[in-house]
Amino acid sequence: MRLTPAAESAVRHGHPWVFDQSVREQNREGTAGEIAVIYDRRDGFLALGLYDPESPLRVRILHTGPPTTLNAAWWRHHLDTTLARRQELIEAAAPTSGRTNGFRLINGESDGWPGLVVDRYASTLVLKLYTEAWLPRLDEVVTLLRETLPWATALVLRLSRNLVETARQSYQRAEGFLFSDDDPPRETVVFRENGLCFEAGVRHGQKTGFFLDQRDNRARIEPLAVGRDVLNAFSFSGGFSLYAARGGARSVTDLDLSEHALASARRNFALNRDDDPAVAACPHHSVQADAFAWLARPSPERYDMIIVDPPSLARRESERAGALEGYAHLNASAVARLRTGGVLVSASCSAHVDEAEFFSAIRRTVRDAGRSFQELWTSHHAVDHPAAFKEARYLKCLALRCDP
Ligand code: SAH
Repeated sequence: MRLTPAAESAVRHGHPWVFDQSVREQNREGTAGEIAVIYDRRDGFLALGLYDPESPLRVRILHTGPPTTLNAAWWRHHLDTTLARRQELIEAAAPTSGRTNGFRLINGESDGWPGLVVDRYASTLVLKLYTEAWLPRLDEVVTLLRETLPWATALVLRLSRNLVETARQSYQRAEGFLFSDDDPPRETVVFRENGLCFEAGVRHGQKTGFFLDQRDNRARIEPLAVGRDVLNAFSFSGGFSLYAARGGARSVTDLDLSEHALASARRNFALNRDDDPAVAACPHHSVQADAFAWLARPSPERYDMIIVDPPSLARRESERAGALEGYAHLNASAVARLRTGGVLVSASCSAHVDEAEFFSAIRRTVRDAGRSFQELWTSHHAVDHPAAFKEARYLKCLALRCDP
């Protein structure tokens, strides 16, 4: 294949995506999962990538640099190199001393595995695919994972929604356990994060069962929570709530639309009460409601910390402006519920809203509410979610202490 000059330059500088309009010529039509060989305008070798004839994202780059052959040895080396970057986390998860044994082992493009994610929850692996190109290679990938991670006792396949039908029709594949030492396989796995226990719904839960990307932000709120009444809006399974409780919060309230998520949060509190006196002592409430409406309704209840972590408000570029308004509106309602000195922790996982515009929208919202504030920190994904290119940097989070 040959690309337009702009795409050629982007690939040379490490961008992992080639869109269909950027393909200038190709010698024939390819099939899903074939290796595309890309040449530059001087006929020099440029890159190898996974071909996907059905997607506008036509090629996902696997390799740039000197020409190479993607044989079994190359794949093994590629996986070893990726996992070596996680070595510190993996060692921290050693069975005797481990405080964290749930984390991302492979983070797609940013780790050189475009469209493929592997998360670890204790000894269970979850493999999530985002492109058809991996489906013809699934057996190879599974064999490689088993050889390299022999301690894994189960592996679950999850597919992005647009792949489910293709996987069934063209590859006779479905989501579910690819292997498990347990019979029946365990669909809910308990793992540790910074010493707290959580359950992950590896088979049916959102994402791969837990929002691992917020780990570092959860840890950041723990020391701020002492003595505070904390509201965790869009709480999911209570991740931020458990950290707040361990940090000495006076009370924690989970707010989520999903009763299933709230029930999971209650189980997560139960999992930690025996081991942690602060968790045991912290009253935990759940509210099942639409958080946008619940926060906006008039109420005398006030909190000393409010965490606002909604699902993506912009699925596409055209929704960007609306998303910014949505964040402003939502956070304005939250600020109105904060006592003097209260902390607003506001996150966005919309890839189409960039960090600078999100942070300024939140600061402006607090100012427009007539509150002065002190900025405590801004941050991103956890360390096991490297983001090697702009489109991969979706998560941003900031904490503001709001004065009168
Ligand atoms: N902060 C969480 C992750 C939040 S994911 C963590 O650290 O694990 C987003 C959550 O928002 C999901 O649990 C989803 O059920 C919930 N949600 C989606 N729309 C909602 C709405 N309108 N009101 C309340 N919760 C909603």
